[in-house]
Parts: sequence; C-alpha cells; structure tokens
Amino acid sequence: MTAAAHEVEAETERLFRALMHVDCEPGRSWNYEACRSFAPLTLEINRLKREHGAVILAHSYVEPEITYGVADFKGDSYFLSVKAREAQARMIVFVGVVFMAETAKILCPDATVVVPDRGAGCSLADSLTGAGLRRLKAHYPDAAVVCYINSTAEVKAESDVCVTSGNVYDIIEKLPQRRILFVPDRLMAENIRTEMKRRGCAKEIVASDGTCIVHEVFDASAIAIARARFPGLHVVAHPECAPEVAAAADFVGSTGAMMKYVRGTPAPYFLMLTECGLVGRLQVEDPEKRFITGCRLCPYMKLNSLAKVRDVLAAPRPDQIVTLEEPLRCRAARCIERMFALAPPA
Ligand code: SF4
Repeated sequence: MTAAAHEVEAETERLFRALMHVDCEPGRSWNYEACRSFAPLTLEINRLKREHGAVILAHSYVEPEITYGVADFKGDSYFLSVKAREAQARMIVFVGVVFMAETAKILCPDATVVVPDRGAGCSLADSLTGAGLRRLKAHYPDAAVVCYINSTAEVKAESDVCVTSGNVYDIIEKLPQRRILFVPDRLMAENIRTEMKRRGCAKEIVASDGTCIVHEVFDASAIAIARARFPGLHVVAHPECAPEVAAAADFVGSTGAMMKYVRGTPAPYFLMLTECGLVGRLQVEDPEKRFITGCRLCPYMKLNSLAKVRDVLAAPRPDQIVTLEEPLRCRAARCIERMFALAPPA
C-alpha cells in the first residue's frame, strides 16, 4: 500500500469513528465506504487550512462530515463568535450562514473571512434591514434596541446591544429602559415577554416581524401525540419556537443549553424541536441517548458542503469574501462588545 493510500485509510478510520452513530438519512448511519469516499477531500481541506493559516468555524447545524471532518470549532453562533475573536487567524472560513460570518468579520477585522456559499442567508436575519430598523426606532425613541445575534451587520450597527438565545433574558433584565425594541424574531419576543413576567420584571417588549423558517413550524399538538407514543419522553425546544410550543416543552434553551440539558437528563427518549444538525452532534457526543424524529433541516445551512469549503480555501471568489465598511463595522462591534460586557463569555 502506498503512503497516500495509508493516509486515506487512516483518515477514513478517523471519520468513521466520529460519524458511525450519526444518521446520514433517517434510520441510516454512515458506513465505512461513505467515509472513504470523502476522506481524500477532508485530507485536502486540512492541508489547505494549514497552508493558509486558516481556521474553520462550523455551526452545529451544518452537515456532520464538515463539523467532524474539518472544523476547528463547532457550536452555536455565540460560541463561534467567541472563538472567532480568540482565533487570531489570518483566514476564517465560516461554515454556517452569512450573518454569522459577518459577526466574525466584525470581531476580527484583520482576518480574511470567507463563506463557502454566499446564498446561505437566514429567514430571520434577512427579515430586517438597517433602514427598516431605523424606521422602527423612530416610532420608539425611548426604547433600548436589542438585536438577536441572528441579525445582519447593518442591524447590529443600529442596535444598542446584541443578545443570544442563552443570555437574552439576563441582559434585558439588566437594561435600565422599561421599553425594549427587540429584533428581528417575533416568536422569541413573545417568549421574552413570558419570561420577563415570570421573573416579575416590568418590561414592555416591542418587536419586528421576522421568524426562523425552521423553528416556526413546530406544532404544540404534535408534542402531545409524541408523549402518548413514547412514555417518559423529554421535549427540548429552542426559544425561536412559538410560545405554545415552548410552553409544552420540558426545556427551552439555546443550542448550547439544549446540549447540556440532554447530556444531564436521564430520559428514555428525547424529541428535539430544532435543526437536525444538533441531533447529529448529540448522536456523536452522546451515543447512548435516543432521539425520536421530529427535527427539521435548515435549507440555508445545508447549502454548505465539503467541496465548497475546499474551493473557498483554495481560491475564494470576491463574492465569498466578507467585507464591511469600517464605520459600520465599528458600530456593530460596539453592540456585540456590550453583550460581552453584560454577559461575559464563560
Ligand atoms: S435555522 Fe433558522 S435562524 Fe438558523 S440559519 Fe436557518 S433560518 Fe436562520
């Protein structure tokens, strides 16, 4: 066997060990042959990464052959923005959606930040422009403007503070203003109202009209049916879900909090009301847990592929390079740094 063939076999073994518990389609796990078919590509990407001094950040929702094959860091958008800030890399390949890569560029202005597919938008982030937010602000001049991290750089530049699904409640509670203009997620705004009431915190939450096309479709009536079929089932939901869904779930939290909850909860079955990529990560990292189907795919996240990651690393096209005007970047950075000040990274 040649040295190159040995290298491919070793890489296949590494990939198979990582992916063997993940469903590559419902009910079917990765096999050795499938891993061998893309081992040359992961080897090439990892070589290119070293040559370019690049770091690959992959969101938990992208395909597992990316998160476990080539990513240096995998997680939710908050975790990845912290890692982007710490990375000090010459080049950041952000495998997720465009607003996340913009966040990396805001925090790492000297790095070349690239995306494998410029079409990887987000129904939530793309629901509100900077001009749209300026119009809303004119109606609520006394409000603190709080943007969810799933927003464009333009919207961050117009906001007072950025939040994530993990720190949103604590940050809003700390703000001195009674009125909060929360953008761009209408359903999360409803969940914030409920939580503020529960905490006895008098805040008026006004919102824009965006939704996540993945999380908005989960249906509370399906939860009751699933509970009847799977006794002992634990239902875990993301706060981008509708309030009726959040109310019917056993746990509601950010991607990171959902993972922690599943790891620490002894239950016969879990129903994850979120993107399927997270279920894939849990299958790898906690193969003893059992998940019933119910998750949904994000079409934007799934535009990413290993081949596109290789191509953007080898020779990024101009449209794949994230650029931001410096004044806008500085204003957006202030909004994110305020989040880090109010809710420091652990
Ligand atoms: S899962 Fe929803 S919020 Fe996340 S990128 Fe897809 S559309 Fe946007």
